[in-house]
Amino acid sequence: MKFISTRGRSPEVSAFDAILQGLAPDGGLYMPEVLPRLPEELFNPHMSYQQMAYEVLTPFFIGDPLEAHLKAICDDAFDFPVPLHYLNETEAVLELYHGPTAAFKDFGARFLASFMERSYEVRQQPLTILVATSGDTGGAVAAAFHKKNHIGVKVLFPKGRVSARQEKQLTCWGDNVESYAVTGAFDDCQTMVKSAFMDSELKERYGLTSANSINLGRLLPQSVYYVYASVQYKEKTGKEPVFIIPSGNVGNSVGALFAKEMGAPIKDIVLAVNENKTIPDYLETGVYEGRESIATLANAMDVGDPSNMERMRFMYDSIEEIRSHVSAHSVSDELIKESISEVWKNHRYAVCPHTASGEYVRNHIIEDTDTIVVSTAHPAKFETIVEPVIGETLPIPEALSKLFGKESICKEISAKIESLFDES
Ligand SMILES: *Cc1c(COP(=O)(O)O)cnc(C)c1O
Repeated sequence: MKFISTRGRSPEVSAFDAILQGLAPDGGLYMPEVLPRLPEELFNPHMSYQQMAYEVLTPFFIGDPLEAHLKAICDDAFDFPVPLHYLNETEAVLELYHGPTAAFKDFGARFLASFMERSYEVRQQPLTILVATSGDTGGAVAAAFHKKNHIGVKVLFPKGRVSARQEKQLTCWGDNVESYAVTGAFDDCQTMVKSAFMDSELKERYGLTSANSINLGRLLPQSVYYVYASVQYKEKTGKEPVFIIPSGNVGNSVGALFAKEMGAPIKDIVLAVNENKTIPDYLETGVYEGRESIATLANAMDVGDPSNMERMRFMYDSIEEIRSHVSAHSVSDELIKESISEVWKNHRYAVCPHTASGEYVRNHIIEDTDTIVVSTAHPAKFETIVEPVIGETLPIPEALSKLFGKESICKEISAKIESLFDES
């Protein structure tokens, strides 16, 4: 399989090169040349998650330098449960928060880390992972790459814009992981990362590699759980589900679109966003307008100019075609709180603010009844928001409580690349 740039002015490359480069040389994002059609035998509800990951991802790695390692990479990366929790007969929640940092970003980050560690066998060169995070990405990336051989990590996050527990997960590592609190917004962090990658001297000297949601190695594994969950849902209910996905940079949603295009039994894909309404506005007007991000309760979705929109727009020929595959709805902070409360009252089930936006869309906006809300983080990561609303203390998942006990180390810097590579 070959991968091409969304901007069409870069040579086609293997998955290996696309993953190690992060961004294509023309500034575009890598996309598979074609999306393979998944064989029917794969739609087997009894297959393990690790096996399904291997089967779904195999066509993308045919002829790849690490093709022979793919099974081991999947076994390493996906060693935690992926439960589909039913609230009632037809409404389910796909809990993507049972990995080491209790958010769905563990899927992409752990796949990428295993892949990159093994890339040393081919390249024999150390790597520096540069990652900008609006909350959960950096924690997941730091956790996934911590103590991986021949790899250093620089994590950038917007100072004061992440929760205390998120910040802990970004700063508790040490060893090969360095954390930077940037005075600015997430979009500033992302701009710094993008411009570092455009600087070929810097890139060469540090072996700079992206682990952000723009990286193909994060994106591809995010299609697997849509295949897995839709197959299980169909087995149980006889219906194809509508997925409702709390979205920011839309990497997770593009993963869902891949799964649907590959033939997984998915009826529809609906995006829930917070007050950052770039996507619903785009779908309504047909004019894409990136903007500054607004701070909300669902802070991992505070993105004003979602980078993976470039992939979504590349996949389809027109705005009409995009509209036929996805819809998107914005949910305000007030409604997010209401939704946390409502789901708790009706089901005694706690959801994080991101997941709550998806629940709001399910319960108040769309008409479909066969629905899966994608739960992107454990509610205990956002305890300052969730606990006062439900009036209970949430138990902290064991993986997280381990991290919270560690010491924090972090540098505060301004939003300029020089401060990131200042060796003093
Ligand atoms: C990153 C994140 C999102 C948004 O995912 P995208 O792929 O950027 O759209 C939603 N919820 C949580 C908890 C996240 O960490």
